[in-house]
Amino acid sequence: MSDVTDEPPDDGASGRAAEPFTYNGGRVDPGESANIRYGISETYLGDPVRIPVTVVNGERPGPTVFLSAAAHGDELNGIEVVREVAHDWDHSELHGTLVCLPVMNVPGFLAQERYLPIYDRDLNRSFPGREGSTSARRMAYRIFTNFIEPCDLGIDFHTSTRGRTNMLHVRANTEEPAVGRLAKAFSSNVIIAGEGPSGTLRREATLAGIPTITVEMGEAHRFQRRLIDRALTGVASVLAEFGCHPDSSVHWPGWRTVIDDDNEKTWIRADAGGIVDMKHGRGEFVREGETICAITNPFKEEEDIVTVEAPFTGLIVGVLENPVVYPGNPLCHLVGLSPDTRTALERERTTANSRSELRGAADEDR
Ligand SMILES: [Zn+2]
Repeated sequence: MSDVTDEPPDDGASGRAAEPFTYNGGRVDPGESANIRYGISETYLGDPVRIPVTVVNGERPGPTVFLSAAAHGDELNGIEVVREVAHDWDHSELHGTLVCLPVMNVPGFLAQERYLPIYDRDLNRSFPGREGSTSARRMAYRIFTNFIEPCDLGIDFHTSTRGRTNMLHVRANTEEPAVGRLAKAFSSNVIIAGEGPSGTLRREATLAGIPTITVEMGEAHRFQRRLIDRALTGVASVLAEFGCHPDSSVHWPGWRTVIDDDNEKTWIRADAGGIVDMKHGRGEFVREGETICAITNPFKEEEDIVTVEAPFTGLIVGVLENPVVYPGNPLCHLVGLSPDTRTALERERTTANSRSELRGAADEDR
C-alpha cells in the first residue's frame, strides 16, 4: 500500500524534495546508502579495475558533496578520512548527498605507488579525462562524469610525496568566491591560494562549476591519527557550513592565514649532497636567520657541515622526512606570515588547549 510517509520529507525552507543520486548504471534513492564497486578500466588479464564508491543519500534535500582520496595511490591518510565519514558517522539527519571515493587510483594503491603503474601516468593530471584517450584519461573520465559532475562541491585529500611531510593545509583557488567559502569552512590554519596545475581534480572540477579544494596532510604510506582527526573536524565544519548537517557548527581554527602571491614562500633546496640533520618539523615557526638544518656526511668533519638558515621568518608547511639529499633536492617549504598572523600564532602557542596543527605535529613526531 502506498503511503505518503514512504516519500522523502520535503524541506520546509525550500519546499524541494530530496532527489535520487544517479550514475551510469544505477541510482541511490533518498534515505538510502549504497556501496558500489564501479568499473573504470580493465587489467592485462581483462578483469575489471573497480573503484570503491559509497553514496549516502539523505532523506532531506541539500547539496551533493564528494570526498575523494588516493588519486595518488600511496597517499593513505585521506582514505581513512573518507571511510570514517562514509561508514562511522551518523547520517540519519543528513541534508543532501555524500559521494565518497576513498581510493580513486586503485592500480597505484595496489602497488603502493603514487602514479598509475601503467607507464607511470599521474591520475591527478588527467582530469576531467576523455573517452578514446590514454588509459589514465579514460579512468579519469569514468570517475569525473559519474561521480564528480553530479556534485555541488568537493574535497580531494592528498599527502606529501613519499619522503616528505606536510602540515595539514588547504589548497584552493580562493579568487572563486564559492571555493574561498569552502576553503575557509574546512577550518585549517593555512590556505595556499592558487588554481592548481592543469588536470588536477580540484582545478578541473572547479572549472566545471563544482567548487573543490585539495587538503594536504602528512606523509605517504601512513595513517596519522591526529591529522585524520583534524581533517574529520574540517569535513564536519564544511557539512555544517553548506547545510548538510545544519545543526552542527562551523569550526574556527583559532588563527588562519591565506598564502597568496603577496606572501613570501619558497621551497628551500639543498646546495650540497649529504645527510640532513633537520632541526624543525612540519608546522613549526622559524625566525629569519635561524638554522633549519645541517647537511653533513658520514665523516662529519667540521668543514664538511653545511648549515641552512631561514631566509625569512615563517612557517614550515612541508619538510623532508627521508634525511638524504642530492644538491637541488627540496629541504622544506617555508611560507612567510603577516605580523597579525604571527601574533595570533604566538598567542596560541601559549594556550594550553590549543588544537592547532602545530601542537598535533609536535605531539605526533616526537
Ligand atoms: Zn597527492
